[in-house]
Amino acid sequence: MPYRGRFAPSPTGPLHFGSLVAALASWADARAHGGTWLVRIEDVDAPRTVPGAAAGILETLAQFGMHADEPPVWQSQRTERYQQAFDRLQAAGLVYPCGCTRKEIADSQLHAHTRHTTLIYPGTCRDGLHGKTPRAWRLRVPDSAPANGTSAPDDPAAISFVDRWQGLQTQNLATEVGDFVLLRADGQWAYQLAVVVDDADAGITHIVRGADLLDSTARQIYLQRCLGVPTPAYLHVPVVTNDEGEKLSKQTGATALDASRPLDALHAAANHLGLDLDETRYASTAAFLAGATAAWARLMKIS
Ligand code: GLU
Repeated sequence: MPYRGRFAPSPTGPLHFGSLVAALASWADARAHGGTWLVRIEDVDAPRTVPGAAAGILETLAQFGMHADEPPVWQSQRTERYQQAFDRLQAAGLVYPCGCTRKEIADSQLHAHTRHTTLIYPGTCRDGLHGKTPRAWRLRVPDSAPANGTSAPDDPAAISFVDRWQGLQTQNLATEVGDFVLLRADGQWAYQLAVVVDDADAGITHIVRGADLLDSTARQIYLQRCLGVPTPAYLHVPVVTNDEGEKLSKQTGATALDASRPLDALHAAANHLGLDLDETRYASTAAFLAGATAAWARLMKIS
């Protein structure tokens, strides 16, 4: 199958160094495979979308020499497709309305010992709303195998995949996530549903993105199985953190990239990825990108 990859920024602010790393890795992987590289603007979360940010991101990518092979796709124009996927899941009896508030879910796990920052849904509304008003719609995940639970290979709730960078990953959806939201209480489609529908519709074969999304991948693979669409290959690159060790984002102080000096940022991004470039300083973004692709191919053993 011909390689199709993508970079999927959320237009919540200008392109920052953390997203440049993901963009460069996905670009180099696509080019090293002789594949197609696409850009998708992930503006499904309307409340978080900043007007003008998407145009700024596309312009910055162009200044950095990364041009998409097809016109960008905008999630905000694809809500009909999310509805169709949701309808199929509903027809299959896989979704149900949930009336729990965030506080109720948080209170239910005061004593839960979990390393996850996302709340595990305890399944309160699985078998009915108990008189509550429906808020969100959730996807039912398989029950965990009864006896010992977590991540046994034959546990229907355990999702495993081999990440091309991070190696074997297993997450038990029942014990580590719970039934998850597809349609949010504020009426917005959840990222998990949108990303799976979009990647399937675009024929994406390889996903290269930041390791902050490693924790979402099992949910996405499960959704792919429910919808009967292929599971792409995954590669999660190490996230960029600030001095306090927090993932770089607008909230943690990431600043916009200086597009007037693209080579400085590109060299820093290559350095973060551990690329062994054969020149210390390239003369143009085009020369840099060719060098970065060759270095990526060596690192990932792509011939
Ligand atoms: N929109 C997500 C982000 O900017 C990336 C989603 C993905 O690559 O699957 O963090």
